[in-house]
Amino acid sequence: MFKRTLVLLQKSTKGPWANMLKDPSKKYTRFKGVDLPDRQWPNKVIEKAPRWLSTDLRDGNQSLPDPMSVEQKKEYFQKLVEIGFKEIEVAFPSASQTDFDFTRYAVENAPDDVRIQALVQSREHLIRRTVESLKGAKKATIHTYLATSDMFREIVFGMSQKEAIEKAVWATKLVKSLTKDDPAMQETDWSYEFSPECFSDTPVEFALEICEAVKAAWEPTAENPIIFNLPATVEVSGPHIYADQVEYFSRNISEREKVAISLHCHNDRGCGVAATELGLLAGADRVEGCLFGNGERTGNVDLITVALNMYTDGVSPELDLSDIESIIDVVEKGNKIPIHPRAPYGGSLVVSAFSGSHQDAIKKGFALQAKKDDPRWRIPYLPLDPQDIGRNYEAVIRVNSQSGKGGAAWVVQRTLGLDLPRAMQVDFSRVVQNTADGLGRELKSEEIIALLQSNYNIDNCSSSVMTIKDYNFEKKSDSVTDVVAVLLVDGKEVSVSGTGNGPISSFVDAVSKEFGDFEVQAYSEHSVGKGSSTKAATYVQLSNGKTTAWGIGMHESITRASVNSLVSAINTILKDEVTKAEPEKVKA
Ligand SMILES: [Zn+2]
Repeated sequence: MFKRTLVLLQKSTKGPWANMLKDPSKKYTRFKGVDLPDRQWPNKVIEKAPRWLSTDLRDGNQSLPDPMSVEQKKEYFQKLVEIGFKEIEVAFPSASQTDFDFTRYAVENAPDDVRIQALVQSREHLIRRTVESLKGAKKATIHTYLATSDMFREIVFGMSQKEAIEKAVWATKLVKSLTKDDPAMQETDWSYEFSPECFSDTPVEFALEICEAVKAAWEPTAENPIIFNLPATVEVSGPHIYADQVEYFSRNISEREKVAISLHCHNDRGCGVAATELGLLAGADRVEGCLFGNGERTGNVDLITVALNMYTDGVSPELDLSDIESIIDVVEKGNKIPIHPRAPYGGSLVVSAFSGSHQDAIKKGFALQAKKDDPRWRIPYLPLDPQDIGRNYEAVIRVNSQSGKGGAAWVVQRTLGLDLPRAMQVDFSRVVQNTADGLGRELKSEEIIALLQSNYNIDNCSSSVMTIKDYNFEKKSDSVTDVVAVLLVDGKEVSVSGTGNGPISSFVDAVSKEFGDFEVQAYSEHSVGKGSSTKAATYVQLSNGKTTAWGIGMHESITRASVNSLVSAINTILKDEVTKAEPEKVKA
């Protein structure tokens, strides 16, 4: 209350446009990209998975208000291995004993094909300590960096371009002498990554110049290329401009076959995924990021989204995201930041449809898919089959007062196998909508099923006026069937008999003698399940001239199912227009 008053006060005294500039160009200038009129990337497609590097435990962890505990880091590391990451940046081992110890854990527990990467500043004692932390690894990458953008060089480090190149070369040579050139360190397959930090804000000619010098110092091979990581440390432009920068770099770096170009996009403008995808089109080989986009400020690129975008384009990301819930679990526990309910693919609401028109479309899509022999996924509103990431269809259609007939019908079909006739769906949806409206919230599946059972008096439920004790049909000819039935009406046995051209009409004839004339308005049936557990489901719409009601019956025997559906409808009518009265009761 108090807060709200303050906000209002502020508004009235300052007026519109109090803080934002009407002409922002006075304060902010558009980033100028590299001149590349013959750019090739717009015509490319992503055809295979890149090399992935998870930096959850380094870049991600260092951005957390509450960094991960050692136990959480271990669990996270194991999950990354399980997903299939072959390169994992685990820590900044020279920064603290905890990071050093965790690097040792990763080295000692990584599968042979997983490369452990560690980040280090270009300083001698820190580099020595980092190499020590990786000793004995099967595969290891040392990652050095140097801020190369004009702003960082001049404002933060006071370093000329020449000095920056000298420093990068010096660090590279030191790492080389301590790793791949050291006869005592040959049990490890060493790799080297250099990041011209703030690449996206660095004149691309200078980025090339420094990387050429570093490459000459490292002497990579085509089998073990040097990794040039091109970070959008801060996202300063549109993704198309970043793509131009990456393509320019890729086309102009010498000995391209001895270089792996890596992307490391942050998400300041919300385009981290787009920049990464366009960067791949522009020729990059490798992607660095975090699960669900954790990381400094607005985060690193979300690897889950990049991978599943690829997947829904029909390209295997070579990361196993089959059990998304267990991944979310580990990520939320480690980061202590919840995954947004609308996060692409992983968010809890992203496969859920509440609105009637969406639900109808999805339901039609599934019905058509079930009939076809075509494995291609074509379901409206669902770009990914939730089952592929370990989710079920229950979450797909959710029912509240905005939902149409399709929503509740979907739940009934998924839960009980009952494919309600269209007119009955309309009838039931009125009950569901009124109940949801009355409660002012979404209805759970169990509540919808309970509503169906009580509304249609299914299976002689206890509130029924009339139940069946016994019955016997006798077929007199092809067109004549007699029935004798014993009913329980308010606890008393009542015998009735009737005749008709089949079981349904003879039974209606028999009960009509007791309760007044009934007429069947609609009837349909289908089987539920397969093999020995197959059941018959029958639906009947019955009228006594004043009230019309639907009934549902289910049984192994089709005759008994039909009788059950008639009893279900008769009870509804006998309870004096329950279908109309009940919703109003809820409303009040
Ligand atoms: Zn970063």
